[in-house]
Amino acid sequence: MKNRTVGIVGAGQLGRMMALAGTPLGLEFVFLDPNDDAPGAHLGELVKGPFDNLDALQELANKVDVVTFDVENVPASALRKIAQHTPVWPSADALNTAQDRLNEKSLFTQLGIPTPKYIAASSLQELHSAASQCGFPCVVKARRLGYDGRGQRFLHSPEDIEDAWDSLNSDSLIVEEFVNFDCEVSLVVARNQNGDVARYPLALNTHKNGILHICEAPYYDDKLSQLAKEHADKLLNHFNYAGVLTIEFFVAHGQLLVNEIAPRVHNSGHWSIEGAHTSQFENHLRAILNWPLGDTSPRGHSTMVNFLGGMPAVETCFSVQGMHYHCYGKSNRPSRKVGHGTIVAESREQCDIVLEHFNSLYQPEL
Ligand code: AMP
Repeated sequence: MKNRTVGIVGAGQLGRMMALAGTPLGLEFVFLDPNDDAPGAHLGELVKGPFDNLDALQELANKVDVVTFDVENVPASALRKIAQHTPVWPSADALNTAQDRLNEKSLFTQLGIPTPKYIAASSLQELHSAASQCGFPCVVKARRLGYDGRGQRFLHSPEDIEDAWDSLNSDSLIVEEFVNFDCEVSLVVARNQNGDVARYPLALNTHKNGILHICEAPYYDDKLSQLAKEHADKLLNHFNYAGVLTIEFFVAHGQLLVNEIAPRVHNSGHWSIEGAHTSQFENHLRAILNWPLGDTSPRGHSTMVNFLGGMPAVETCFSVQGMHYHCYGKSNRPSRKVGHGTIVAESREQCDIVLEHFNSLYQPEL
């Protein structure tokens, strides 16, 4: 059987981990990335070019059997064009929706999926009006290109509005009510074109400064798991989805409110590399190739910790038994995700013991 070739737009850590998962399955990889030194660039052929260049995207598509992406800032219109001759999964429609917080929230409303109250604002005057309708505190976010807490400001009173308007420097904003959540959870789910669905258990996510810091799975709550499944099914069916979809939720008053979706593998699914029978990366590849999906059940309890700004020293890493290390090969920069570690044990308590040992040796930047 001839090896199948997967094209990945973006050779970041997500693309790298896809290639690491797909190589044992006999898959080959071609990446599109402007940077020779991107984390995945050495794990396959590299087409060097920007993500928004149609010629570069065509060149990638011509070399592969299927195209996927590890970044979200790819023009959906360009993906639609290449999808005319090479399959692109997840679809350009799913990406287009996720790229704009207003489109995303409008879809949640249309599908009856609870989400925090939101109002669009495209001028300073509209920002004042939207903030007063949502009430204080509230959150103002750029509709596009925000991630890891970037492109958002918390408004505690009307006095904060002008500063937020100046610093966000965008006339395409959305204001959301502030959710006093109990915790944040996410669901990673894979669907292939046959409509088979494989769901990971919910993961519990702890953020610092808007960036994921610790992710623990499984987060057992039968009621919330059932709600998450129902919300995910609506989204998967709406898009006739193929690939991994991630849904981030706030948990408040025993209910789930969707914060956002990512039409891709996600940081809150990294635990599945060691902590589940099939990783999110392998299942993403199986899903976009319309192969049968793998077992998503957990191998125990997993705790994943992100390394932000820089990796711990090698001596620190290897003096803590029970943690699996991932270094993405990126240069250090404040708050940058440069790697992660995952502890898998029989119980959360056992994971906590290893994490405490690790924390006693390593003080993260945050
Ligand atoms: P986001 O970029 O939308 O994923 O937001 C990053 C983080 O900011 C979230 O994970 C939450 O911790 C926090 N956050 C975002 N939106 C809200 C909100 N409406 N209410 C409370 N916290 C929020």
